[in-house]
Parts: sequence; C-alpha cells; structure tokens
Amino acid sequence: MSDTSDFLSAFDKDRIVDAIADAEKRTIGEIRVHLENWCWIDAYTHAKKVFLDLGMDKTIGGTGVLIYIAVKSHKMAIVGDAGINAKVPSDFWQSTLNHTLTCFKENRYGDGIVDAVNQVAAPLVLHFPKTENNPDELSNEISFGQ
Ligand code: CA
Repeated sequence: MSDTSDFLSAFDKDRIVDAIADAEKRTIGEIRVHLENWCWIDAYTHAKKVFLDLGMDKTIGGTGVLIYIAVKSHKMAIVGDAGINAKVPSDFWQSTLNHTLTCFKENRYGDGIVDAVNQVAAPLVLHFPKTENNPDELSNEISFGQ
C-alpha cells in the first residue's frame, strides 16, 4: 500500500512545487499541499486543524488554500481562508476535489494534485492578483504529517 514516502515520485513532487510557485507569481494567494498517511475523522474537519497548525490563517488577505490528502485513508479536503472563500461558489472546492479524485482513481496522483493546484489558483489570480511586492508568505514545499 502506498504511503506518504512513495505516494509521489520525486518528479511529481517537483511538478507540484513548481505549479505552486508558478501560480503564486500571479496572485498574492498562498497554496500549500499537505500529505499524511491516516486521517481518522472527517477530512475537512481535520484539514482545518492542519490549516491552523501550518499558520495558513496568517496571510494578509485571507488567501491561504490548503490541499490536504490522507494517503492511506483515501481522504482529501480543500480548505480556503475567509478571503478566498467569500469569492468562490460554495461548491467550488468540492468540484476541484471531484476532479482530483478522478485522477487518483486512475493512479495519476501527480496529475491530480497539479490540476488541483491550478484549479485553486484560478480564483486566487482572478480575485487576488499579484501586487508589486508579492511576498511568498508560506513555503511552497509539500509538508508531511504522521
Ligand atoms: Ca508560497
């Protein structure tokens, strides 16, 4: 069974970090991907805690978006901060999730996460375009939990 150590190839990890960096050149928004093995409760509830643990509620515009995946539990959630949540339709994160899960069912994990980053980036770029001083407020690296 796949776990966080081999869920993504080095190539896929690089692609994901590059997709985040590319997106963040066009928006003040901040995107993170967090992987862990198990999630024993509702994925969205747990992802909201991870969001806080990663300090993602501290962005200037409330533009943090977390893509959370529990690899062995086969659970996933997307959490947006208040600023971006106010701008996207209520089913936007869920439709992004559905697309990503379709890729996962085809074992295209890297593709699914890169697509999720790109889909999440679209409303950030639209509603929170880059400023002249566009600080990278949160690391672009994938983070790993237990
Ligand atoms: Ca960043």
